[in-house]
Amino acid sequence: MLALPLSLVAQTQIKYHSNKFSVQDDVKLGRQAAQEAERQFPLLRDENARAYVERVGQRLAAAIPSEFQHSEFQYYFKIINASDINAFALPGGPMYVNRGMIEAARTEGEMAGVMAHELSHVALRHGTAQATKSQKYSTLAAIAGIAGAVVGGPGVGQLAQAPFAVYLLKFSREYETEADVLGAQIMARAGYDPRDLANMFQTIERQSGGGGGGFLSDHPSPKDRYARINREAQYLRVTNPTRESAEFARVQSRLRGYQQAPTMAQIQRSGQRYPVENTGGGRSDDVANNPPSGRVEYPAARFQNYQILNGDVQVSVPINWRQIGESGSVWFAPEGAYGEYNGQAVFTHGVNFGYAQSSQQNLQRATDEFVRSLTQGNNNLRTNSGYQRTTLGGRNALWTSLVNTNEATGRAENIRLITTQLRNGELFYMIAVAPQNERNFDNAFQSVSNSVRINN
Ligand SMILES: [Zn+2]
Repeated sequence: MLALPLSLVAQTQIKYHSNKFSVQDDVKLGRQAAQEAERQFPLLRDENARAYVERVGQRLAAAIPSEFQHSEFQYYFKIINASDINAFALPGGPMYVNRGMIEAARTEGEMAGVMAHELSHVALRHGTAQATKSQKYSTLAAIAGIAGAVVGGPGVGQLAQAPFAVYLLKFSREYETEADVLGAQIMARAGYDPRDLANMFQTIERQSGGGGGGFLSDHPSPKDRYARINREAQYLRVTNPTRESAEFARVQSRLRGYQQAPTMAQIQRSGQRYPVENTGGGRSDDVANNPPSGRVEYPAARFQNYQILNGDVQVSVPINWRQIGESGSVWFAPEGAYGEYNGQAVFTHGVNFGYAQSSQQNLQRATDEFVRSLTQGNNNLRTNSGYQRTTLGGRNALWTSLVNTNEATGRAENIRLITTQLRNGELFYMIAVAPQNERNFDNAFQSVSNSVRINN
């Protein structure tokens, strides 16, 4: 993991372009564009895969040279369920990696290569530097207005036509070279082989039939791109770089097992809109930056109804629990039961509802797959029982119990998982968690699961 530049003077020095926008403008524009992107494109419902991409992304972001770090930026990483071999990053830090890109990469190093290239555009503030040069985007409001105009737009064609793309697309070849060079430097500093960035461009070309397709039309190739990156790589020494990883292979095979993803053009043509996650950085804004105390009130006897998961599900929970998160995954937990530990949202008591993508038609096998995805990332978590039949929202469901050691409190906890399969093959799940010695939550969990109604 140690990157030792052979000779600092030999590395290409990169400078910022003139930019009349502030760093805060980048953050603001990126946030707005990210919301728009999430309304237009479906995020992949696979927290395990997302967390993996996030780990690779954070490793790269930490390796951005200090002169290109901005404390205001918040890098985060999400997967779009689209088949195109593409990825895009927005000013201020949001990055979206297509499922097709992860499936196409030959190694973790190649996937990281594209991400390092994208991160470089963000760190160098290329979006607003580009806008600075253009008459069309003379003010922040002008750019923001274009981002807003996409709502109800004609919904045609490629990502390149999505108005939020004005920040990031069709950079000049000069910008592309800078992103390649800085990307190579970031790769080396993060402990990857910078030549994997060049290799990924070849993989993209090969897999998109020579034409280059999405990514290469968004990031036009400067002359001798491949050779240029490899030349830079000669000045960068990495001891024992990460190329393959077992985790990459595991995530990739999960993704390949899912139903074929649509293309971004198909998604845009369908005109479907998606709920925006209530998150900043892949986790809930509501989660304070400190661990949960685990000291909570008993569940109230009175319950309150909620419509969750885009109105698909109705559920009733004790009135002294609050909702955390919005789309994809929703928690209800009492005060004191949630917080953040090591950058992860952690819950000590509460219930979680969500969807999980599945490659299995059969409920038990789909549940097996989901349980594996939960336990693989957590050595403390293991199953504690076989499956029992039950119902959830009037449907056939399976019930199983797991045990865990809470990351934040170190206490042993019981987790019960109930799963049912939707018509589209996705799994709908309810997870209930409480410390092992606090059985007074059992009745509340039972009432909550009885209250579930599924509308879809
Ligand atoms: Zn680029």
